[in-house]
Amino acid sequence: MKQKRSTFRHSPSLIGVQFFCLLSALSAQQPQFEFNDSHLHLTNYIQEGTDIHKFLEIMGTTTGRVAIFGIPLQQQWSFRVDAERGPTYYLNSDAPLYYYSFTDAWIATAYKALSPQQQSRLDPMITGFNPTDMYAADHIRRVLRTFPGVFTGIGEFTIHKEFVSAKVAGSVASLQDPALDRILDFAAEVGLVVIIHNDIDVPFAKEGSPPAYLNPMKVVLKRHSNATIIWAHTGVGRVVRPIKDHAAHLEEILRDPDFNHVCFDISWDEVAKYVAASPEATRITAGLIERYPDRFLFGTDAVAPTSQSDYLKVFNQYRPLWNSLSAATRDKVLKQNYERIFNDARHKVRTWESTHRPPQGTHTPPL
Ligand SMILES: [Zn+2]
Repeated sequence: MKQKRSTFRHSPSLIGVQFFCLLSALSAQQPQFEFNDSHLHLTNYIQEGTDIHKFLEIMGTTTGRVAIFGIPLQQQWSFRVDAERGPTYYLNSDAPLYYYSFTDAWIATAYKALSPQQQSRLDPMITGFNPTDMYAADHIRRVLRTFPGVFTGIGEFTIHKEFVSAKVAGSVASLQDPALDRILDFAAEVGLVVIIHNDIDVPFAKEGSPPAYLNPMKVVLKRHSNATIIWAHTGVGRVVRPIKDHAAHLEEILRDPDFNHVCFDISWDEVAKYVAASPEATRITAGLIERYPDRFLFGTDAVAPTSQSDYLKVFNQYRPLWNSLSAATRDKVLKQNYERIFNDARHKVRTWESTHRPPQGTHTPPL
């Protein structure tokens, strides 16, 4: 038995065959689900969340597959600042946030408690790293080697985000930071999907001024054309509205072959709110997606959902958009783009893991 496991661990071709058998079995079993979810936080800003078995119940037959991750930042409960009132969200307190790497171990442990069939419906992501730290890429490598057979990508991690960036203890994240280049280089080497949150602009930007972080983001994306990158929320933030030219900015990226490795997720109720705000907004969004149907993914951005109705809120908010898309495009945004991107990444990461053994002395679970 030991011998057999070891053969599997070191043979990319065998892993590939197993992997594709599992995928075909999965797609044969689940023809009726409504969507795959490319963006789900199983835990919240104080690292509490939904039990993974309960979450599978919430997915039920409505959801096919889900990319799951924690939240890399922990809201500190500072008694000096908040006294008895323990904050649960970053807007509830002036106390700082800090990077909480244990989130990755927590997600991996929860995932490993599931059956192979349950696991095949989830794509765990590594998120507990500090993107200003040159050692962040080493954290990602360490997590992959400690928990082989678990992760598909990295993220959601954040560079610029309204009130969050300034609240993080230590250095403010930056698109110009070489630590970010190391992270993206390593993701490309392994084949990890990257989900990055970067507001396209500063909060309450002056009307008519160019979005502050659009060009710096494009420079970074262009420099990492070997990585598969999903720009979360299309760059929209809580108080960073999709300005009049938002669709035009996205189209500039979408039509430029230098950005063929970049997709967008339309997750978050804040994004859905803008898209569904008027027939005009829905029409502009649907038009853009129809022109680039392979480049958008649906995600919920739900945080530790407690019930199916809670979890389906964003999907339902998008009804006007679903009704405005052709059946073929809707199917891509809701299902096929996820399967293409995450299947490809799973296969590449398993292959990388099979040639990079875990650190000596750690227990190696079978793949
Ligand atoms: Zn998110």
